[in-house]
Amino acid sequence: MRKYTYGPFQSRRLGLSLGVDVLADYKLCTNNCVYCEIGLTEKDNLVSPNYRINLPPSRNFRKELFSILKYVPHLNSITFGYNGEPTLNEKLLDFLKIALDVRNELNWTSEKPLITLFTNSSTLYIDKIRERVKQFELVLAKLDTANNVDFKRTNRPHHDTPNIKMIIESLIKLKRELPKKNKLAIQCLIFNSYKEDFIPNNNSTNIYDLARALKRIKPNIVQIYSTARIPAEYFVFSIDDDRKREIATIFKEIIDDNKIEINVY
Ligand code: SF4
Repeated sequence: MRKYTYGPFQSRRLGLSLGVDVLADYKLCTNNCVYCEIGLTEKDNLVSPNYRINLPPSRNFRKELFSILKYVPHLNSITFGYNGEPTLNEKLLDFLKIALDVRNELNWTSEKPLITLFTNSSTLYIDKIRERVKQFELVLAKLDTANNVDFKRTNRPHHDTPNIKMIIESLIKLKRELPKKNKLAIQCLIFNSYKEDFIPNNNSTNIYDLARALKRIKPNIVQIYSTARIPAEYFVFSIDDDRKREIATIFKEIIDDNKIEINVY
């Protein structure tokens, strides 16, 4: 029976990806995003960025990785983070070490799969967490909003979570500290709302604030996308492809840096 892995599945942004879950078998997150595709964060499982669980990988993690990966030599990514915020596990690097070992022991059709980490960015203000995160070859960090009103409305963070200004500052730090061989991608999930009294993050103020924040962060990649599965809140729906391209144009104009890749999914 599999305990740690999902897939492999074809991901819009990562190619063929094997998901790795380092949390318990329930969602644990510092956010309760209105668009979350794994459902609402229960009250008891909405935790402070300072909260830690101590779940080291069992011996089965290595076995499980081997048993799957030997059949997918064309895999593009071993991707950490599927049941909430993976940096909440104090033992994250023990999982990384095993994934690196297994990857090095297997033969691959062409390039080795990247070791990728999803994070919602809420814990990155903690130096020790950035130290861990920067060891991943590709860091996919969430930034859907760049002002506090949109942040609270969209991501509904735990009350201990720092404000969005501090989260943006931690992303700037992370990019500076990242080894040259590793990459930072910022993921911006932009959505619409059917509910008249709910302003979605697809509003002009937020989009321009995001563009200015991205200019300061200087990530390697910006990924603009929308919901593709059932969101936590019924009133959330995806923006269309024209709007994604429009947002990409705004970002390009304001960021004004050819070295930053801006992709639409
Ligand atoms: S940060 Fe990710 S896992 Fe947590 S609620 Fe938001 S979308 Fe869901």
